[in-house]
Amino acid sequence: MSLVGQRRGAPRAAVDQGAPHAVAGRGAQGAAVDQGAPHAVAGRGAQGAAVDEGARAVAGRRAGGGRSVRQGCALVTGGSRGIGAAIARALAADGWPVAVNFRSGEDAAADTVAHIERHGGTGIAVQADVGEPQQLERMFEAAEDQLGRVLVLVNNAGLRADQLALSMSDEDWAQVLHTNLTACFRATRRALRGMVRERFGRVVNVASVVGPRANPGQANYAAAKAGLIGFTKTVAVEVARRGVTVNAIAPGLIDTDMTAGLGGELLAAVPARRAGTPDEVAACARFLASEHAGYVTGSVLYVDGGLSA
Ligand code: NAP
Repeated sequence: MSLVGQRRGAPRAAVDQGAPHAVAGRGAQGAAVDQGAPHAVAGRGAQGAAVDEGARAVAGRRAGGGRSVRQGCALVTGGSRGIGAAIARALAADGWPVAVNFRSGEDAAADTVAHIERHGGTGIAVQADVGEPQQLERMFEAAEDQLGRVLVLVNNAGLRADQLALSMSDEDWAQVLHTNLTACFRATRRALRGMVRERFGRVVNVASVVGPRANPGQANYAAAKAGLIGFTKTVAVEVARRGVTVNAIAPGLIDTDMTAGLGGELLAAVPARRAGTPDEVAACARFLASEHAGYVTGSVLYVDGGLSA
């Protein structure tokens, strides 16, 4: 079930190294951009005022009938495509204004925001490399300026750089640990301030079956994801009395860009004999972010067609 030699994350050189900014969907007006970096812009066709002022006005999770039960928003890292985009859509459907973070996929993030807005929700796209502390901070500031306090944080952004441990470079080790684990720690630490003050918060960390389960060629990825699970459990216990829950989702083989070209041998190991969909993972994140999951914390929810059973 080796993943060696498969696709790896986009090189950093391809990424805008400037201050993070939220980006308009196609057709948005220049006036939609918030003052200075970071800035946020509406999805396609949205008008400026609808973003800066309108988004603030509707920020907060709406219960039935439009009643706002929480003043704040959800932030999904790596929300431009794949599992993150599905989670952003699902949280918006649950009434959360959603900050959709992306690193390089500006058009994909704009598509996610446009989808949210077409369905009556509120979303902004925010560019930031979560591995860069200053960009991470500005991502939070952009979300807070536009949508209010971050009460739901989904640490989803992730990448792979597969190689057998014998041949793995320091760079590949560090990049994967940095993005898949260290950035989650920093984002969680940043979000917890507001959550603890609010006495409500939901942190959902997207881990993996790889980590708890071996997968040759992914020592760096497995170390990061296993670390993320340990981190999840420990922080959950630290903040449990504050109304804040911290949980992990451990997807198995999910049909996204990250797993393009995989299948075959890997699929044969999945008892369900099919890959999962991003929406199936998103449904679990939606539950963990909900009021219904208030007594679920420190848990790991496997979404893997039985792979870890
Ligand atoms: P994907 O389709 O490759 O999408 C990855 C997302 O992460 C993209 O939105 C990408 O943004 C973003 N990203 C990567 N590095 C980033 C950075 N430094 N800063 C900000 N954003 C960054 O992957 P996916 O399959 O949806 O995976 C999502 C999460 O699920 C990952 O944590 C992954 O490890 C985990 N997971 C996936 C599977 C699976 O089978 N697919 C299984 C287990 C766990 P840009 O496109 O803008 O660069």
